[in-house]
Amino acid sequence: MSVSDPVRLREIVDEICERMAGETERGRVADYIPELAKIDPGRFALVLSTAEGNVIAGGDADTRFSIQSISKAFALAVALGRIGDQLWTRVGREPSGDPFNSIVQLEHERGIPRNPFINAGAIAVTDAILSRSEPREALGQILQFVRFLADDDDIAIDPAVAKSETETGWRNAALANFMRDFGTIQRHPEKVIGTYFHHCAIAMTPRQLAQAGRFLAFDGALHPGGPRAIAPRMARQINALMLTCGHYDGSGEFAFRVGLPGKSGVGGGILAVAPGRAAIGCWSPGLNAVGNSQLASMALEMLADRTGWSVFASN
Ligand code: GLU
Repeated sequence: MSVSDPVRLREIVDEICERMAGETERGRVADYIPELAKIDPGRFALVLSTAEGNVIAGGDADTRFSIQSISKAFALAVALGRIGDQLWTRVGREPSGDPFNSIVQLEHERGIPRNPFINAGAIAVTDAILSRSEPREALGQILQFVRFLADDDDIAIDPAVAKSETETGWRNAALANFMRDFGTIQRHPEKVIGTYFHHCAIAMTPRQLAQAGRFLAFDGALHPGGPRAIAPRMARQINALMLTCGHYDGSGEFAFRVGLPGKSGVGGGILAVAPGRAAIGCWSPGLNAVGNSQLASMALEMLADRTGWSVFASN
């Protein structure tokens, strides 16, 4: 039976936090963005924001971290809200099976990225948002949207992380230039990746992340029956993509072990969604071999096991 009792959920979160505190295999902090290499790998947090309106938080729930690729889910929601199904003319919806920053499939598929959650796909989504606004405006819109979702204005872009990636993100520059040549993106590649690096540099706490994810757990609304952020159909589509493509070439493994839509970022965060039940923010900076948080992946597997929240369960 699926668990919704807040007392039992509290016990589960405490058990997971205790177990993670004792873990010695914590993975490796991303260092290809120099600013991210400074983060203490010992951090861990797990926060549930439930349908009943409870927020159950454990560990470093109020420490800000760089959401990185988790921003791709928010950017996708903004782009779908803006241009709707037209977005799918420039980005696909299939898992890639390749690393997050891979360029190989782009050539085979005539510059159309396989999905919005690999870097190339998110850069194409960012360009779609830029088709109607300038970078500063587009960033303002994405940030405002995230603040609205979390109901918290204390969420901002970390300029040091954005600068650090702007100075080192050559691979993303290559992806953008390649797609510009194919016509997948229309704005100047430098503008597009500048905007992309900045939305990846949004910093939030795991508590804010869990709150911001509620719209995906509750059919596009901030809580069951509450204010709507996006159409229910779009929330379902984003969840489907998170389940199949949210963890790069580790997406199959995450679906197999956890059974929940989720989006990871190289800052060590994972936003997971238990439809109808809860949005979950989990964070630990050490990454596994495919770039997903080692401990957050383990913690979510334990959570799904203890709660019965897998989308593949019948209860
Ligand atoms: N900004 C990062 C990049 O483009 C995001 C990658 C990630 O979080 O997986 O490389």
